[in-house]
Amino acid sequence: MSLARAPLIALVVLVPLLLAGLPFVASGYVLAVAIGMLSFTILATAWALFSGPTHYISLASAAFFGIGAYTAAVMAEAAPWPLVLITAALVGFAVALVVGLSTLRLSGVYFVIFTFGLTELIRQLVTWYEVNIKGTVGRYLFLDMPQSTIYWQLLALLAAVLAIGWFISRSRLGLAARVIGADEVVARHSGIDTTRAKITLFAISSAIMALAGAIMAPRWTYIDPAIAFNPMISFQVVIMALLGGAGSLFGPMLGAVPLVLLFEVLQANFPNAYSILLGAVFILIVYGLPRGVIGLVEDWRPASSRSVTIVPVRASRDQNVLTIANLRKSFGGLSAVEDVSFDVRPGEIVGLIGPNGSGKTTVLNLISGALKPDTGQIFCMGRGINGLSPESIARLGVARTFQLVRVLPAMSVAENVIPGIAFRARQATGALAHEEAMTLLSRVGLEHRAAMPAAELTYIDQKRLELARALALEPKLLLLDEWLAGLNPSELEEGIALIQSLRYDGISIIMVEHVMDAIHALCDRCVVMNAGRVIAHGTPRLALAEPEVVRAYLGEDDA
Ligand code: ADP
Ligand code: MG
Repeated sequence: MSLARAPLIALVVLVPLLLAGLPFVASGYVLAVAIGMLSFTILATAWALFSGPTHYISLASAAFFGIGAYTAAVMAEAAPWPLVLITAALVGFAVALVVGLSTLRLSGVYFVIFTFGLTELIRQLVTWYEVNIKGTVGRYLFLDMPQSTIYWQLLALLAAVLAIGWFISRSRLGLAARVIGADEVVARHSGIDTTRAKITLFAISSAIMALAGAIMAPRWTYIDPAIAFNPMISFQVVIMALLGGAGSLFGPMLGAVPLVLLFEVLQANFPNAYSILLGAVFILIVYGLPRGVIGLVEDWRPASSRSVTIVPVRASRDQNVLTIANLRKSFGGLSAVEDVSFDVRPGEIVGLIGPNGSGKTTVLNLISGALKPDTGQIFCMGRGINGLSPESIARLGVARTFQLVRVLPAMSVAENVIPGIAFRARQATGALAHEEAMTLLSRVGLEHRAAMPAAELTYIDQKRLELARALALEPKLLLLDEWLAGLNPSELEEGIALIQSLRYDGISIIMVEHVMDAIHALCDRCVVMNAGRVIAHGTPRLALAEPEVVRAYLGEDDA
């Protein structure tokens, strides 16, 4: 054991021991405050498990906390306590699954409002049931459970939550959540089943909250829906997690502990102004500490760097890479793609060219699953892929870049590439994935920038990174949307050589391009589009010489 580790071990062993001993020495009041800190730390940490990485801000904490508390109130006298706890967690989990399935397609403010409404809806339902069916308003809970028992249960739950959070942050699920938070479209095109990842995390987080509610229930001898489903809890949890830093495991704790104290003081001294003060604290946190307290700590840590070994990228050869037939797509009245048919053979580079607005990007969106065709067929390696999700198509080995560059700005260059490796068909994780990411980065000339946040890359380097991310899927078909646009002459030469080298790996490519030199140098065939239709088809020399193509391009400057 090295000496440097000693303080860490002391922390991991001693702190829990000291905390566990607290009930033997603390007064009733101190223990009550400690219970408040523990329960809010658990809620805020559970909240951050889901909302931290995905950036889906949930105001449903009170709903799940209340579900747990109410489950305990209903069952406590009829069933052994462990069974009550298990049931509460399961009910929370199940409700989260149902809610998640119907709402996690919502994003941004719609999701926030829905989760807030959910708490109110559940409260109203329970109230209605109590009043109309049971003929009461609330329930008495005659459980003789001392504060210390509640405290120990919460402490154990907190340890479990931290362990769960630690495992998730290192798992593919955690990676998926972070990519979803950075750019959900990129996540799907990297092969991530975003719906499943979001629902899984939401349900785990909700089950933990319900468990906390059940453990806390015996503190009230009387529970009614207004106590159990108090929306203030949701706001407090968000504020605590944001103050501490929702992006890291221990962040929410750093927020919960001081804020429980602060709220305690505010509530005791300014009961009438409490809500206003809560709002003020919220605004201060969001503007003053956007990444929370933990963000300040992280700014002091140097970025890590790693050495790399270089192994060649695996080549893949397949027959019949892509066939599309009679594809159509219209947006409202506008027919963006009309009756487009062409195919791509193994190892071939097909240029997709045409004036702006002719439907090229739309064709790539249809192939990659970002859009669904109105009619027509798309076969990828002999398999019909119409209607498949972007993530399924990505896993089949269809990778893309975006016309307007999309990197995950806050994540490092290496982390931008790893999702593709972790979610493709032949998955790799951990050190293996990192090594492979470094190989891909060195291939596009970015290995020395691996630890840098992607936002700090130049435009050209962001384009290189997009290519590396696409290659991470081990694609059989690569869709490049004006990948060479905006490069200076020497960069263009490098770019052309790079694309050429991909062909030798057996990757087939469709490239949307305006740079004529590149088209002549790279493309085996060209498909020329105008106003949604294919107007010419053949070798670059022949296709570009067609009178209709010349007319379509007349007046366009291609440099
Ligand atoms: P290109 O890539 O060849 O420049 P696009 O495929 O981007 O052309 O666009 C073709 C046409 O479809 C354009 O008129 C564009 O405005 C329209 N379009 C593309 N995507 C959408 C969309 N999501 N909604 C509405 N119209 C769209
Ligand atoms: Mg386009």
